Amino acid sequence: MNKIVLIFCVLLSVGCPPNTDAPVSKASVRIPPKAEFNGSFSQAKNIILMIGDGMGLGQVSAALYMNSNRLNLEHFPVIGLQKTYSGNNLITDSAAAATAIACGVKTYNGAVGMGMDTLAKPSILEQAEKQGFATGMVATSTIVHATPASFIAHQPLRALYENIALEFLNTEIDFFIGGGKKYFDRRTDDRNLIKELRQKDYTVQNYFNIPLNEVMLPRKKNFVYFTADDDPLPVQRGRTYLTAASKMGISFLKNHSEKGFFLMIEGSQIDWGGHANNAEYVVSETLDFDRAIGEVLEFAKRDQNTLVIVTADHETGGLAIVEGSKMDEVKAEFPTGKHTGTLIPVFAYGPGSELFGGIYENTEIYFKMKKAMGLK
Ligand code: MG
Ligand code: ZN
Repeated sequence: MNKIVLIFCVLLSVGCPPNTDAPVSKASVRIPPKAEFNGSFSQAKNIILMIGDGMGLGQVSAALYMNSNRLNLEHFPVIGLQKTYSGNNLITDSAAAATAIACGVKTYNGAVGMGMDTLAKPSILEQAEKQGFATGMVATSTIVHATPASFIAHQPLRALYENIALEFLNTEIDFFIGGGKKYFDRRTDDRNLIKELRQKDYTVQNYFNIPLNEVMLPRKKNFVYFTADDDPLPVQRGRTYLTAASKMGISFLKNHSEKGFFLMIEGSQIDWGGHANNAEYVVSETLDFDRAIGEVLEFAKRDQNTLVIVTADHETGGLAIVEGSKMDEVKAEFPTGKHTGTLIPVFAYGPGSELFGGIYENTEIYFKMKKAMGLK
């Protein structure tokens, strides 16, 4: 704020409108030493990483209070906070944030599985696959969207969807469910990647042929299911598959390799509700994601060998629960239609969860997962 205006306001004792665009001034700082984890932890056989795109504490809180004060997220014993900023911006996008979590590098906004140097960085999914683990992904966006893409593709720009689809043929990923069929079978290069996946011994099904709940999972082959030609519907308009697909992923992958598995599950559209400043959209998507979390937790409790991590890539919309809200009747306001820079919670359950307390960089999630799983 202009100094003269400020003095003028103070002198006249009139209320100045809040100046939301002014940067916070940097007071004299003293930077404490970097935190390190030195404790002991146990080894996990399987990792299920769940990413709620755009799910900050505001989104979690709104969903909690709209759900009679109960969430499956409450069952996680370890909670940490991650710093989400990207390699070129304090406010990250989903591609840079997912690349940080998947590959352990801070990169520029828009980059998929690449560092600032635009060199490909191997993802935890690719490394797990190479080292004999079974791997899979489930998303409620297209499967080539920034978050899942960063676990399997290496592209300088997130919008290169057809290139990203091609990269699904470069790994031996065992299982994936999501939208975006058109990037595989209606391409500008006229290749039919569904055919090519089948030639690689994948079973490929889609929403148009058979409902997900009627699918018979193959015993030996890999499995792919497309839930939509492009973006899947929001929950509010009838999408119901996230929990079922997550359960399928677990029952498929747990029998696919003796070594264990890595499964990434994304609640993709919490972010889209935030961009639209639509609290009902945010809450319905967060509760859908939380139902999948409940199912995953139940498996992990029975299994005892599975580390479950739930986090987000960033917060979207700056969702604030404001005056006038009541239990089951939350009123939300959004200062922006974009992403924000707040710290993001990380919830952990199971062997290796000990690693996830504290405050750390988003890139640390990659190193902690590798450590917990014993990946080289
Ligand atoms: Mg996403
Ligand atoms: Zn977004």
